Amino acid sequence: MIETYDAIVLGAGAAGLFCAATAGQRGKRVLLLDHADQPGKKILISGGGRCNFTNMHTAPDRYLSSNAHFAKSALSRYTPADFLELVEAYGIAWHEKTLGQLFCDGSAKQIVAMLLEECAKGGVAVHCGDALGEIAHGDGLFRAAFGGRVASAPALVIATGGPSIPKMGATGAAYDLARQFGLKVVQPRPALVPLTLAGDEALFRDLSGVSTEVIARCGKAAFREAALFTHRGLSGPAILQISSYWQRGQTVTTQFLPDRAEGWLREAKRERPRTSLRKVLGEGLPERLVDVLCARLGLSGELGALSDKALAAAEATLARWPFVPDGSEGFAKAEVTAGGIDTGGLSSKTMEARKVPGLYVIGEAADVTGWLGGYNFQWAWASARAAGLAI
Ligand SMILES: Cc1cc2nc3c(=O)[nH]c(=O)nc-3n(C[C@H](O)[C@H](O)[C@H](O)COP(=O)(O)OP(=O)(O)OC[C@H]3O[C@@H](n4cnc5c(N)ncnc54)[C@H](O)[C@@H]3O)c2cc1C
Repeated sequence: MIETYDAIVLGAGAAGLFCAATAGQRGKRVLLLDHADQPGKKILISGGGRCNFTNMHTAPDRYLSSNAHFAKSALSRYTPADFLELVEAYGIAWHEKTLGQLFCDGSAKQIVAMLLEECAKGGVAVHCGDALGEIAHGDGLFRAAFGGRVASAPALVIATGGPSIPKMGATGAAYDLARQFGLKVVQPRPALVPLTLAGDEALFRDLSGVSTEVIARCGKAAFREAALFTHRGLSGPAILQISSYWQRGQTVTTQFLPDRAEGWLREAKRERPRTSLRKVLGEGLPERLVDVLCARLGLSGELGALSDKALAAAEATLARWPFVPDGSEGFAKAEVTAGGIDTGGLSSKTMEARKVPGLYVIGEAADVTGWLGGYNFQWAWASARAAGLAI
């Protein structure tokens, strides 16, 4: 027997849960399917277990996509303030950590519980723990097989996310479905991911655990936050952010001591000629990093003994320290996937596929990738809302 619904949502992650709840509360009969044993697994591990559920500075320019304008409509119609209102209605305590990033005071479990409660209010049928079988389409209906059952509905929502962190149940299912329905896929790649160093630069790996504030740059993108040296290369928020813009072969530069004005080393020489370069750098950088930087700069001794030319060159190098990563730590460690289902084939108002009426794509499955700091969840909520209101 085929079970009938108004909509089948594939993937009970952030976007799928919110979309199902939105449609359900509008009176739609919704089936929400996930192959994982429980819904919202990535939400549970997000933000170090506290879920950075939105960012108050959300704006379209904080998202990467082949179509820079696509996210505008959905983001403007469901804002961080809207999601915060929901969080507060559930009495979930929250705080702003930094840079507009809102986290739960308690646990990410509260966000999952809230979303499940919202689904329950909408009478959503949630089914987890069975692999998806064949997804078929004909006569205006989508059919989904799962756990020995078959359901059909005039609307199908792809909310299966991207392949980052496969051990959490992430797959490339969205792209297989996209191809099945004739939608294009923008080459997926790991984003918000640590970068690896090899060869000459492997030396920096010895600094594993050392962290300092930098401005990381790649192309036109620049992020001022902490960088962390790891046993494989570079991580920390500044590097994760810049990794989303990095392409293989490109140089990433880090500006050490970003508050120092041009000429600062030469000025220090005039003011304190007997002070060593090592000491001056150590006033703003961790000691182990200073050792490596001094060795690389090939400078040592008192500032007074160093020429202005050498100090100017050192300033310039410290302001644009070049790293050429040999790769990234890949989907296994990537917080998100950049690329995905091409937004060119979707309505920015409803997330519906232009050529396949009734088919919707939301969340990370689509080619919209946010910066680190709550932007990806805000896209999940906003795109889910847009589809949930349109179904
Ligand atoms: C460690 C980590 C921390 C993060 N922290 C934050 C944060 O604090 N703030 C932030 O904004 N973003 C964060 N992110 C990113 C954020 O989790 C994602 O962008 C967001 O979850 C995307 O929502 P989604 O619903 O599109 O996909 P997901 O939440 O990934 O949900 C997809 C769902 O589809 C299911 N699924 C996949 N394949 C299949 C299949 N074949 N059959 C059936 N079901 C399937 C999965 O089991 C999953 O439940 C973090 C990511 C990671 C990995």
